[in-house]
Amino acid sequence: MEKRITGHTELLGLIATPIRHSKSPTMHNAACQELGLDYAYLAFDIQPEQLEDAVKGLKALNVRGWNVSMPYKTTIGQYLDRISPIAQMCGAINTVINDQGVLTGTITDGTGYMESLKDQGIDIIGKKMTIVGAGGAATAIVMQAAMDGVKEISIFNRKDPSWQRAQLNVSIINEQTDCHAQLFDLDDTDALRQEINSSAIFTNATNVGMGNFVGKMVLPDTSYLRKDLIVSDVIYMPEKTKLLEEAEKMGCQTINGLGMMLFQGAASFRLWTGKDMPIDVVKKALNF
Ligand code: NAD
Repeated sequence: MEKRITGHTELLGLIATPIRHSKSPTMHNAACQELGLDYAYLAFDIQPEQLEDAVKGLKALNVRGWNVSMPYKTTIGQYLDRISPIAQMCGAINTVINDQGVLTGTITDGTGYMESLKDQGIDIIGKKMTIVGAGGAATAIVMQAAMDGVKEISIFNRKDPSWQRAQLNVSIINEQTDCHAQLFDLDDTDALRQEINSSAIFTNATNVGMGNFVGKMVLPDTSYLRKDLIVSDVIYMPEKTKLLEEAEKMGCQTINGLGMMLFQGAASFRLWTGKDMPIDVVKKALNF
């Protein structure tokens, strides 16, 4: 590292709190090292009352760009000059690009998801998706999928605080894209079965399958699955959720959330450096 940092080295980073668990510094520094790019990527633990000053400071120091994680994804926009259309649709920002003092906010989580499908040879353009969830991850996915040309999206959610966001997502998609979106209560199991039956892909974008929900599925049982359904989960710890395990047993093509995490980073990296992230090198650096 001491050989890499010189008087020419520019800075990239991440602002969030808590932050020390983040894999982004490992990811981006490994990519810069591999490609011989003269950047260093650091994680900054910022408290909410410091957010505005932090943005001003990063700008004053001419930091090329930075990622934004919780809890600032929905609040940093007010301190930026421009917000991309996809970030406006999502109401969230995970990447800031500093073009000579002009700060643009965008979100790459949805691109990360769509790229991860492509990476596995999965094409859902012109097809139908059923997804459970309406939080940050789900919102980024459905907005990007709709923008990219997925034909229909059926969203299921519990009647919890994110139900309102689910309603908003449906109206934004229907008003601003050619995709047709519908919202259903997750308790409506008949609708769930029907929508999955007519979909090419089923996506879990909830917490069910990780943390306290390890070993649990967001579907009532495996009868909702079929062999030619693609089953994806945004979770990557555990690597294989109960949903993916059951889907695999049924012969479905499955994909976990690791690709989404890697490719959202790769999309940010491309916006800052103009280069493709060396995914294999980064996976190795992350021990994946
Ligand atoms: P969030 O809190 O914003 O949203 C949570 C969503 O899950 C809501 O729609 C909520 O209704 C639903 N939910 C929660 N518990 C549920 C339950 N018991 N039954 C049914 N629905 C339930 O969270 P988020 O940021 O959207 O994250 C959701 C998941 O996505 C987490 O597991 C997170 O680790 C993962 N994630 C992955 C990536 C990636 O790059 N792979 C990125 C972001 C988030």
